[in-house]
Amino acid sequence: MKAAVLNEIPGELEITEVGIDKPGPREVLIQTSAAGLCHSDLHFMEGLYPYMTPAVLGHESAGVVEAVGSDVTYVKPGDHVITCLSVFCGHCSYCTEGRPSICSGKDLECNRGPDEAPRLTIDGAPAWQFLNLSSFAEQMLVHEHAIVKIREDMPLDRASLIGCGVMTGVGAVFRTARVEPGETVAVFGAGGIGLAAVQAARIAGAGRIIAVDMLDTKLETARQMGATDTVNAADTDAVLSIHEMTSGGVHKSFEAVGLKQTTEQAFQSLRNGGTATVIGMIPLGTNIEIHGVDFLMEKKIQGSNMGSNQFRTDMPRLVDMYLDGRLMLDEMVSARISLEEINQGFQAMKSGSVTRSVITFN
Ligand SMILES: [Zn+2]
Ligand SMILES: [Zn+2]
Repeated sequence: MKAAVLNEIPGELEITEVGIDKPGPREVLIQTSAAGLCHSDLHFMEGLYPYMTPAVLGHESAGVVEAVGSDVTYVKPGDHVITCLSVFCGHCSYCTEGRPSICSGKDLECNRGPDEAPRLTIDGAPAWQFLNLSSFAEQMLVHEHAIVKIREDMPLDRASLIGCGVMTGVGAVFRTARVEPGETVAVFGAGGIGLAAVQAARIAGAGRIIAVDMLDTKLETARQMGATDTVNAADTDAVLSIHEMTSGGVHKSFEAVGLKQTTEQAFQSLRNGGTATVIGMIPLGTNIEIHGVDFLMEKKIQGSNMGSNQFRTDMPRLVDMYLDGRLMLDEMVSARISLEEINQGFQAMKSGSVTRSVITFN
């Protein structure tokens, strides 16, 4: 099969012939229908986070089950699925506490061991599977706990977005921060994840929803998706504007960029008792500075991993919300591209001109 491979870091992706094994007992072979280009892929390509090479990148996808292993009863060939990097073992302390997105057992239990044949190979040598998925490929071989079955009337290109960016932004609002009706919200960053957070705040019934970005085009999209107010931080002090608009700060703020400065601004934008949730991937080695005195007024800051998802529950709900018109996904797909156009897709992402490019197969 064809796949996009990262051979050196930093580096671009190369379309390469990659071998894929048959499903083991608890594995599922999937025909990839669509794969979104996510900022996290770019972080690894640029070396902001380490990874092994050669690796088949990609982790935001949907497809159709082609074959299942001998012990798999959850899906059968022909089923439509969304993949999720939050593969869960099902019985570690995090899984049993209801926090499967931070499962500690997945690396040992949901991967093949060193003595087993690798899932992916290049010229017979092992290739790394990125985040247990490797979606930039015509097929994926994954553990059965890395997929969720969905309705067949859901278009698979839009379903793929739910697999990472949408789940991450929406989950941060619904699950990590638990935004309540009427609460004021600020979202820093109006890319794919930030827009998903804006939408979730609207669906949750938030009061004022303030989107912050440096590009007016992105802020305009944020308005279409539910932002009641926007701040262009290129020419305005975002923290000051938010405090003025809300007479003292927001209940809940979200950082969807992955930078020290925006993380600190998200915290500074809170009213007393408010909570800042950091969704973005802050580069390794970066420390965040906040004023200790703010804790006296019960301001909080917390992380969110993939929206604290329970994806087998959450993703079918998001599919329903798309199909009943509440979750806007059509507007988030700015380009449909081929696998061969993947590097141009990442260039477009860097320029800030797109919300999401989606690779469609066949
Ligand atoms: Zn992602
Ligand atoms: Zn677990």
